[in-house]
Amino acid sequence: MRTVYVNGAYVPEDEAKISVFDRGFLFADGVYEVTSVLDGKLIDFAGHAARLKRSLSELEMESPVSEDDLLEIHRHLVRVNEIDEGLVYLQVTRGAADRDFAYPAEARPSLVLFTQAKPGLADAPAAKKGMRVISIPDRRWGRRDIKTVQLLYPSMGKMMARAAGADDAWMVEEGAVTEGTSNNAYIVKGNTIVTRHLGEEILHGITRAAVLRMAAEAQMKVEERSFTIAEAQDADEAFVTSASTFVMPVVEIDGEPVGAGAPGPVAARLREIYLDESRKKAV
Ligand code: PLP
Repeated sequence: MRTVYVNGAYVPEDEAKISVFDRGFLFADGVYEVTSVLDGKLIDFAGHAARLKRSLSELEMESPVSEDDLLEIHRHLVRVNEIDEGLVYLQVTRGAADRDFAYPAEARPSLVLFTQAKPGLADAPAAKKGMRVISIPDRRWGRRDIKTVQLLYPSMGKMMARAAGADDAWMVEEGAVTEGTSNNAYIVKGNTIVTRHLGEEILHGITRAAVLRMAAEAQMKVEERSFTIAEAQDADEAFVTSASTFVMPVVEIDGEPVGAGAPGPVAARLREIYLDESRKKAV
């Protein structure tokens, strides 16, 4: 049985408790982070901690613990749960208060963390096979740059993909791809990597930031702009990035093969660089 962290205590998962009045439960009034673990170490913890701070500040929420304590909690859970490859999930909610739409004046934020073991995460077969995606309208709220726990529409998107025999969905708004249900989306045309510019319409992926930096260091050309599904279907390659999938090729969009319909060299190279560099800097 896993040990999880709840509001200051490490407890067996079946003893962890959160109030029925918790605003995360009642209003999705909470934010989260997912940090991957390779070789028992955290990948880009500093990036996730910085984004958490920003998400909290956008929602006028206090961080329940310092960044140093947060790192210590992550490390402790990785250690006691013997995670070699996997994830640490963290959630901060505004806490428990009598139900009212207005933010309560004095709720104490709730902090929950747990691990998920994912043996073979770095060596996922999907990276060699590639993913098939469908396009769906983006029906999420407008502040997707805040990493909130309102994930119902992305969940519905995954189910739509599954019903269509695909692996995931890319969401489209005003004719342009925003992002995947739980990842950032990219295409490659010639020697140029294209991914949507940052804004309130997408989550500012921590993996995205690292991959774009590494692509620039490797002299690859990057354009941050919108693209359409038609442009993606006509691209040489497509891929997604996220903390839990790293760089994952996309080989089919709405039933149309992308390029040769097989994982391409740019995605493969970026995946390799990303995994190498991230392992070196893991904490
Ligand atoms: N976009 C969305 C909507 C996501 O949910 C995620 C990850 O959960 C990402 C992008 C990728 O972000 P990161 O690289 O920080 O995991």
